[in-house]
Amino acid sequence: MSPASDRTRRRAACSRAGQAVVFLLLALTALVFVLLFNADLHRIVQRKHQAQNAGDAAALAAARWQGATLNLIGELNLLHVLALANGQPAAVDAITNMQARLCFTGPMTALFAAQIAAKNNRIHVDPDMTDLLREHADTVRNQYTALFDGTRYFPEPWPGAWLQVADMLDQVASDGIAAGPDNAQFFLDPSSGHMLMEKAFYDAVLSRNWCWFHLHARGWLQAYASFRDWPALPGPDISDTSNAEIFGVGVRPFTFRLDFLFSASDLEARFHEAGFDTVTAAQLTGTNVLDRFETWFLYNPGDWSEWSRIKPDGEDNFPVTGAVRPEYDVAGADAVVRVYASVDRMTPGIEGGRRSDNVMWSAAAKPFGYLEEGSERRPATDASAFVLPAFRDVRLIPVDAATGSENNTSDIEWVRHVRSHLHPYLESGPQPNACRYCSALTLWEDDAFRQQGIDWLDLYHQNCRVRTPGGNRRGGGSRRGH
Ligand SMILES: [Zn+2]
Repeated sequence: MSPASDRTRRRAACSRAGQAVVFLLLALTALVFVLLFNADLHRIVQRKHQAQNAGDAAALAAARWQGATLNLIGELNLLHVLALANGQPAAVDAITNMQARLCFTGPMTALFAAQIAAKNNRIHVDPDMTDLLREHADTVRNQYTALFDGTRYFPEPWPGAWLQVADMLDQVASDGIAAGPDNAQFFLDPSSGHMLMEKAFYDAVLSRNWCWFHLHARGWLQAYASFRDWPALPGPDISDTSNAEIFGVGVRPFTFRLDFLFSASDLEARFHEAGFDTVTAAQLTGTNVLDRFETWFLYNPGDWSEWSRIKPDGEDNFPVTGAVRPEYDVAGADAVVRVYASVDRMTPGIEGGRRSDNVMWSAAAKPFGYLEEGSERRPATDASAFVLPAFRDVRLIPVDAATGSENNTSDIEWVRHVRSHLHPYLESGPQPNACRYCSALTLWEDDAFRQQGIDWLDLYHQNCRVRTPGGNRRGGGSRRGH
């Protein structure tokens, strides 16, 4: 064997060994990565479960307090009748005042209970959501108390209400917010109904979901020319300040005579159902309780209408099967919360190597009640909308079926966009680099972008699934995701 061929052989063996080492290293790296990724995945799934449990528990806790609040307001309606029957007008004033306060302190307790439920389920305080609540306390303290034309711009439900509400909000915020209220109806925010107030519009622009325009804003792609075409944003609605903005229960004081709603025997039956067995119709008639003008708390008809969102052929084509029992077919008080759970990853993320992820969960719950007449059950609102202690149960409900769930009032980026970016946009066009919703508006302003949509719909609009009249459902979707 020549020394030359021996050298060649040795070199070949050496290089084979080198290749094996490189391969082994690569395989090990891949293995480590897979193991870490697996651990990450496990953590993400585990945190997601925790977030779901915490969100559900928080929503249920809030709804339970909403139900308890409604029952207390209803019992006070009955105590009001008794106070009149017993000739105690001083008690009457105290009762009405207490009911007005309960409309705020009850929901505040709901908010507080939601925080405890979320924290007990290992959700940490979210600094952004806490800031939002603190800012709102400042708004209530400084703006709601301002005078306007000699009267308060925001009518106080009881004397000194706004300062007390601001203090209570600060108190809740000082412990930190872990479960953000997501369906609040803030007096100062523009009411929904404007396309710029719909998150789905921005999502449709960013994901080029042209069908959304075909289904929800037909013709707008063609008609729109520039930001000057938008109708003005609806103003704040302060016509009714008798309910808490967060987890409000949707009731309202009205002054009227009780015999507009009840006969003495009707009312006697209501008393017996609530456990006041000794009250008689003769007593109610004899003391002229029914024919005085008094302030009673009623379900606000705008809030406590039919629960149309949950119906298969309702406005949102909701995917429920079977009929909803009449006693449960009532919208009204409900609570939507969002929680974030952060996950620290061991593997680098896709977006610039972020090592921490947030999983978000939103949940909704609602108090359920009914009036009982013999074996028959009727909706809680059926006693001429007179609030009575009728709430017995709470359940989770689909977020899309909850009232105000589209408000997203604890989504900080969205809230900032609505409160700070929309007005400058309507005045002077898309704001550069403001937020992802603003970037959607920049895209939307581009004629060529909208033309893409027009062209696409010309060809494919028949593929957009439309609900046909008469209950013949062929798809559709809910407001939170299609
Ligand atoms: Zn913005």
